[in-house]
Amino acid sequence: MKRAVAVALLMIPSVVWGQGAPDTSRLPPVKPEAVTEGDVDAPAVSKMPPDTETPPRPEAPQDSEPDTEEAAEEPATPPEPLAPPVWQTLQETDDAFVACLGALNELGAVYKLADPQTEEDRDCGIANPVRLSEPVPGVQIDSPALMRCETAVALGTWMRDFVTPAAATLKRGPVVTLAKGSGYQCRRRNNLPDGKLSEHAYGNAIDIMAFGFKDGSQIKVVPREREGSREESFQDAVRATACLYFSTVLGPGSDEAHSDHLHLDVIARDGGFRLCQ
Ligand SMILES: [Zn+2]
Repeated sequence: MKRAVAVALLMIPSVVWGQGAPDTSRLPPVKPEAVTEGDVDAPAVSKMPPDTETPPRPEAPQDSEPDTEEAAEEPATPPEPLAPPVWQTLQETDDAFVACLGALNELGAVYKLADPQTEEDRDCGIANPVRLSEPVPGVQIDSPALMRCETAVALGTWMRDFVTPAAATLKRGPVVTLAKGSGYQCRRRNNLPDGKLSEHAYGNAIDIMAFGFKDGSQIKVVPREREGSREESFQDAVRATACLYFSTVLGPGSDEAHSDHLHLDVIARDGGFRLCQ
């Protein structure tokens, strides 16, 4: 009898487990999910609720719904209006242009108003160009240069306030000529075939290759490796002060493309950042 009881008792657990069989039969399909979720601490049972299955679901429909909406709208927007050409975004208001010409006149600059410039490249151009012959009285650009008025004023003010006084220390007579490199020109930066358009393409830039003095001598812009000359001092002085008026000043040492001239431009950058190298 005792044995029978013992056997019966032994049977109970198996019966209990047997009764639990329906539950365990549900577990197996859940286990793979628990593994993939990677939540080791979480009991398998907690993975049972369909909660774990629902989170991924909302994402899919949420993604797909807007997509279809956007897809439905897209056909209506293809004729995106082109951004205005860059030269147009740089166009001065009438008041600003008149004020700029006033500043140019005050400098005693010699210039002519020129027709608006546009090019095959729609971004190139100048809305209100001036053809500058003398940024300050008595200093001739070797060939008159087209540029925006703002560029001309920057050049004239720099010449008046720093280049002329610096030249006076050299005992060569005043600067009478500026040898111009590029003025207005629809091209890419550094004359590369692609990439961003140069500021020259908007009339924002002028390149100066040399300063000519009344005694006939000339100081060329060239690499000067601490040569200890007055020419070097002059070149360094005018280059450094140019950045008070121009937001970009590049020259020998900046890169190979600027080894024989000073590139000066009035590009407007966020926060008024200036690039002077
Ligand atoms: Zn340049």
